[in-house]
Amino acid sequence: MSLPFNIAIDGHSSCGKSTIAKFIAEKYGMRYIDTGAMYRAITLYCMRNKIIQNKEVDLGLLQNSLDEISINFEYNSDLKKSETFLNNENVEDLIRGIEVSENVSIIAQIKEVREKLILLQQEIGKSKNVVMDGRDIGTVVFPNAKLKLFVTASSEVRAKRRFDELVIKGDIVSFDEVFGNLNQRDEHDTNRKINPLIMAKDAVLIDNTDLSIAEQNSKIDKLIYSKI
Ligand code: C5P
Repeated sequence: MSLPFNIAIDGHSSCGKSTIAKFIAEKYGMRYIDTGAMYRAITLYCMRNKIIQNKEVDLGLLQNSLDEISINFEYNSDLKKSETFLNNENVEDLIRGIEVSENVSIIAQIKEVREKLILLQQEIGKSKNVVMDGRDIGTVVFPNAKLKLFVTASSEVRAKRRFDELVIKGDIVSFDEVFGNLNQRDEHDTNRKINPLIMAKDAVLIDNTDLSIAEQNSKIDKLIYSKI
């Protein structure tokens, strides 16, 4: 089965948006786009090129550099997942570390960065059949998406899930560091002036604090069937 419409998924940091998006993409033959990965890739570029240092951004340098930055995704059939490329370099692992997480919300609040990425996201969405996750997908990127989900969970549960993921990957971080970063990003993302994280009026709220993956998937299936 392949769905001829786009699905928008927004929500707080580490709330399981990508788990839902991957489930939908696989089951319903849709293309999954992780917009957080795009903001993370630009952030990595900024860190490497000293456009952001000690949380201070050199706006002039950033504006002059944006045209040099290209981001795309390629499907890795061995790992069965899509990977992020920054100027043709596979940065999938690098963008998930705590250093990028600590800077990404600062870069994501910059107007020119958002304009560039939103254009790219809307271009990808023209093919329909896209499931996209982020913070402003249902409100700004695809305001007419047929199905919009707003996902959340308690901050303790979200931090625990993220911490476990990082530990499995071998990252050396403390739970407090992860918990602090997650709260800081939520605060930044919710209160920024441009395209803050808010629930679209027509989005369906999914709080998965106490939901198993199977329960969550069954909810999603019902919602999708209600739109077909
Ligand atoms: O989804 P993920 O946690 O990887 O996103 C990283 C950061 O990118 C978010 O905390 C937010 O600052 C930014 N972001 C955004 N708009 C999106 C997706 C992500 O501002 N659509």
